Amino acid sequence: EVGTETAILESFDDMMGVFQRDAHEPEFLQAVREVLASVGPLLEKEPEKIATFRRILEPERVIMFRVPWIDDEGKQRVNRGFRVQLNSALGPYKGGLRFHPSVNLSILKFLAFEQAFKNALTGLPLGAGKGGADFDPKGKSDNEIMRFCQSYMTELCRHIGPRTDVPAGDIGVGGREIGYMYGQYKRIVGRFDAGVLTGKSMSFGGSNIRPEATGYGLVYFVDQMVTRSDIAPSLKGLRCALSGSGNVALFAAEKLLHFGAIPQTFSDSNGTLYCEKGFTEEDLEMLTELKNVKRGRLSELADVEGFEYFHGSKPWSVASFDAALPCATQNEVDLEDAEALVKSGVMVVAEGANMPSTPEAIAHFEENNVQFGPGKAANAGGVAVSGLEMAQNSMGIQWSREEVEERLRQIMVSIYDKCSEGSKMVDGGSLRMGADIMGFVRVAEAMEQQGLV
Ligand code: GLU
Repeated sequence: EVGTETAILESFDDMMGVFQRDAHEPEFLQAVREVLASVGPLLEKEPEKIATFRRILEPERVIMFRVPWIDDEGKQRVNRGFRVQLNSALGPYKGGLRFHPSVNLSILKFLAFEQAFKNALTGLPLGAGKGGADFDPKGKSDNEIMRFCQSYMTELCRHIGPRTDVPAGDIGVGGREIGYMYGQYKRIVGRFDAGVLTGKSMSFGGSNIRPEATGYGLVYFVDQMVTRSDIAPSLKGLRCALSGSGNVALFAAEKLLHFGAIPQTFSDSNGTLYCEKGFTEEDLEMLTELKNVKRGRLSELADVEGFEYFHGSKPWSVASFDAALPCATQNEVDLEDAEALVKSGVMVVAEGANMPSTPEAIAHFEENNVQFGPGKAANAGGVAVSGLEMAQNSMGIQWSREEVEERLRQIMVSIYDKCSEGSKMVDGGSLRMGADIMGFVRVAEAMEQQGLV
């Protein structure tokens, strides 16, 4: 079942082969189908681009390796490590590392594929990659995390470098993990190559605003979505549902407050925390402490005055919302969730996570005229500030918070402009299609100019 792109697939047997051969990689194929549906009309007009599209589907290189480590009981453990080096047409491979038990090749290929178009949209010189391991950081001690990060980097270090491949964080990888991995990289190669990883601490080459960047950027993007269509004059008073409770969700909530909006929910894998009045700056400090210092669960705040906790529920149906910002993980918003959101009158959905909405959910939003901001545009602020961190590292300087945030804001506005421009290139175009089209066009042009490589 391939849907609207059937004609192109049939006209191009080799592409059909990809769908058959990679049939065991559902997340990767889901991401490919979505982009193909958007760029299909363009490929029909410019059939010479079909071969370029086909080339993007094959990562330049995939590295898989053993990650052995010793737990606190002294027992030997082994995990599987990965780095997908998908495309280097625009710059060094760039994309995060995910440590989560669900990590497999399909998920990392989908993330690297998304990353290619996202990175292209930032306008910065960034290729695309993604990596990680099926390691579960939940419940691990600080020492176990350090030993795992060191072992992971002992293998990865031979494949990366400031001008080769520049990993960063993703789910399960934050400042602490980047620090341990940077230390191990430096020890093995014997050089202070600051630009080999982004998301570093401010004390050794990190950038201001990097931890905040994805969440802040998301809200700058939502501001464009709302004010440049007829949804509302500003974000003021908008009731917002956020899922997740990591950096993306917490800093998106902080920026929503700056815009006068009302962040009402967070979630983790056990349930949803709801605050009808909206979480305040003080609430966000308490949540940050819970997540980053105590590394606890949202259920621990169930009894706080003004909070309500819904065990086993996602945020989307616990109340009525004007905007929904899924900031947790892929396919977290399914058709049933989309139906609940539409019924409650949601006007805007913008993806802080990568591919959080299923294709059925996206179709339901679009059929009901909900403004939809796809992740590869809406959450590009994170990797954009990673690009700015690389620039600062190569100059050996550190820009101020104001300087970095202003550049981030400008990049998000320009991404919105590009998506809107791209949406006009095809009949019935949307921001979603515009993002895919403009991202693809930039990567494709660079690849074509570089010859058959
Ligand atoms: N993991 C983030 C993303 O999905 C950031 C990647 C980076 O900074 O390289 O875009």
